[in-house]
Amino acid sequence: YRYHICARCNTRVGEDIPKLRDHTWDSGIVTTKPDCIHAGVRTYTCTDCGATKTETIPATGEHTFVAKEIPATCTTGGYILCTCSVCGTTQRYDASEPLGHKWNSGTVTTKPTEDMAGVRTYTCTVCGDTKTETIPATGVHMHTWQLTKRAPATCTEDGYDLYTCAKCGAVEHRNEVAAFGHKMNAGEVVIKPTATTSGVRVYTCSVCGETKAETIPATGLPSVCPGG
Ligand SMILES: [Zn+2]
Ligand SMILES: [Zn+2]
Ligand SMILES: [Zn+2]
Ligand SMILES: [Zn+2]
Ligand SMILES: [Zn+2]
Ligand SMILES: [Zn+2]
Repeated sequence: YRYHICARCNTRVGEDIPKLRDHTWDSGIVTTKPDCIHAGVRTYTCTDCGATKTETIPATGEHTFVAKEIPATCTTGGYILCTCSVCGTTQRYDASEPLGHKWNSGTVTTKPTEDMAGVRTYTCTVCGDTKTETIPATGVHMHTWQLTKRAPATCTEDGYDLYTCAKCGAVEHRNEVAAFGHKMNAGEVVIKPTATTSGVRVYTCSVCGETKAETIPATGLPSVCPGG
């Protein structure tokens, strides 16, 4: 500098002392980055004298999400769980339908008689869940069919009319209609990918409102999710 501070009398000496002039601040640099919940700091330096001052940058409210894919099971769909690495806020997006049970061929748990229906029990080879099915009575009779349930087709379920024999409990599906399948829209980016973190796109069915999420790979690095 063009002046110095005297160590003995503590006053500035020298020519060109910028005494009453305002500082000339530069445009500042971010010395502490703000994130979703923490304020940051910008530091300005005077281009004349080197003095510094700081200014608070408000917290951005923008989370830094890390996406993790949770696989589907027999009865629960797969989903993408996004967790903010800073504050722990989570968001969940459905990604796939449940896989459905893988039933074995079943065993007869109640034998049918001439006039009583029996029961066959099926076990899921994946999760151990069970379901039962009626075995018609063995006695010869004309079934007396009664409409016991009307199940309309939906995006994911076949529709049918369920008829049950009033005498033996046998059941029959009639007038089956195949599931329509979802009518997914073009999708919406709910979390933008960055150079290092993957994003999320959500598709919505225009019929039933079901959503399906998909990860968008990070733009700068291979598509490996850091949390995954
Ligand atoms: Zn002095
Ligand atoms: Zn200055
Ligand atoms: Zn956050
Ligand atoms: Zn299962
Ligand atoms: Zn019958
Ligand atoms: Zn649908």
